[in-house]
Amino acid sequence: MTQIFPKLDIPQTIAAGPGPGNTDERVLAAYAGAGLADHMHGDVLRGMVECKKMLRAVWGTENIHTYGVAGTGWSGLDVMFSGVMPGDKVVIFTNGTFSGIDGLTVRMKAATKDELAADSLNPQAASVVTIEVPHGQSVTGDIIEAALAEHKPKWAAMAHWETGSGRINDIAGFSAACEKHGAMGLVDAVSSLGVGDFRIDDFPGIHGWASCPQKGICCLPLTYAPVSFTDRFIETLKATGTRTFVHHPILEARHWGIIDGKDVEKGTYHRTHSAYAVAAFHEALRITLEQGVSARAEEYAFHESALRAAVEAMGCKVTSNMTSLIVLNLPDDLAGREMELVQSCRAQNFGIWPTLSEPVQVRIGILNLLNRATITDIAHRFAQAIRDMGGKIEQSSVDNALNTVYAKAIAAE
Ligand SMILES: *Cc1c(COP(=O)(O)O)cnc(C)c1O
Repeated sequence: MTQIFPKLDIPQTIAAGPGPGNTDERVLAAYAGAGLADHMHGDVLRGMVECKKMLRAVWGTENIHTYGVAGTGWSGLDVMFSGVMPGDKVVIFTNGTFSGIDGLTVRMKAATKDELAADSLNPQAASVVTIEVPHGQSVTGDIIEAALAEHKPKWAAMAHWETGSGRINDIAGFSAACEKHGAMGLVDAVSSLGVGDFRIDDFPGIHGWASCPQKGICCLPLTYAPVSFTDRFIETLKATGTRTFVHHPILEARHWGIIDGKDVEKGTYHRTHSAYAVAAFHEALRITLEQGVSARAEEYAFHESALRAAVEAMGCKVTSNMTSLIVLNLPDDLAGREMELVQSCRAQNFGIWPTLSEPVQVRIGILNLLNRATITDIAHRFAQAIRDMGGKIEQSSVDNALNTVYAKAIAAE
C-alpha cells in the first residue's frame, strides 16, 4: 500500500545558527511571485545576466567568469575544485569542519585512480599536503608563507571564514604567498560573502572563489552559489579539462551569458534553470547592493559586539572572531554541558548550534538578524537556557552589557 503522509508543516524558528540565515521577506515574495516561465524565456535570461552583473559588484570583481551555480555552497565549491586534476600538487589549510571537508574534496579530485580506489570515500592523495591548524585558531600569513615556500604547489586552498570554529583566516597573506610562490589560490568564501567587507580584485593571488546562497546572501530557497574565476584559472582549466559536464566552470557559465570568455547578451542552454530561483536570487542581490557591502559588514560587526558583550556578561568565553557568528564555551560550572544546552534550545525552536567537530562548543549566529530587538531576544533566551541548567546569571549585567553597546549607536545618530 502506498502511504500518503499528511501535508508537511514546518514551523517558523529563530535561525540563530551558523547558517542558513533568515531569508528576507522580499526574497520569498520574489520566489513565490515569479510566473512560470521556462529557462529560455527572455526575462529569465535577462534576469540571469543582471544577476551576473550585480554579483560582480557584490564580489568586487571584474572577473568575467562570475555567476551562480545552482545548489548550495558545496555545489559552488565543487565547480571551483573541479580545476584540480588527478596528481595535481595542492596545499590545503584546514582549521575546522568546513575547510576539513574542502580538504576531502581536494583529495578526491587530486587522487590518482589507484589512490581513489584504495579508499574511495577518504582517499589519501600523495600530491596533497594538508596543513592542520588547531580548532579555534586562525590560519596566519606566516603559516601559509612557510608551507607554500616549502611545497611550491600548483594550487593552494583555504576557507576565508571557517564557520566550524568561527575563525577568520588571513586572506591577504594567502594571496601574497600564492603570488610569490606561483600557486593559484582557491578560497571557500561561503561564510564571508555578504557579511565581510572585501573585494576579490584586491587579492590577485586568488584565482577561484566560491560562496553560497544561504548565509550572507540571505537567499535560502535553493538558488545559486556565487562563484568567480580569473582568466588564468579558466585558461588553466581549458588546458587540462575536467571530468564534469554540469559543474564545469566554463560550460556552467554559458547560461549566464558568458561564452568564449566574453559577455554575450543572452545565455545559451546549459541546464533547466528555475524562474522562481532566478527571481529570488535577483532580489537578494538587489537587497545586498541597496544596503552596500561595507555598510552591511559594519552592521554585522556592531551587532556581533553587542551579543558578544552579553554572553561574556553571562560568564561565557568567546573564541571566535567572525562577525556573523559567536563560538563560545559555557561558564566553568557548566563546562562540558554545551551539547545539552544546545539541544534544549533547539527543542524550543531557538535554533543555535554546537560545533560539529571536537571540542564541543556553542555557536550562535546572527545572519540577517541585525536589529537590537532580535539580538536582545537571542541574549535573553540564551541566558534563560543557562539558568534552566542551573547556571546563575544576573539579568541586570546582561542588560547593562547590551545597553552599553547600543547606547553607542544612539550617541552616534
Ligand atoms: C556552510 C559552509 C559550507 C557548506 O555550504 P552548504 O550551503 O551547506 O553546501 C562550506 N564551507 C563553509 C566555510 C561554510 O560555512
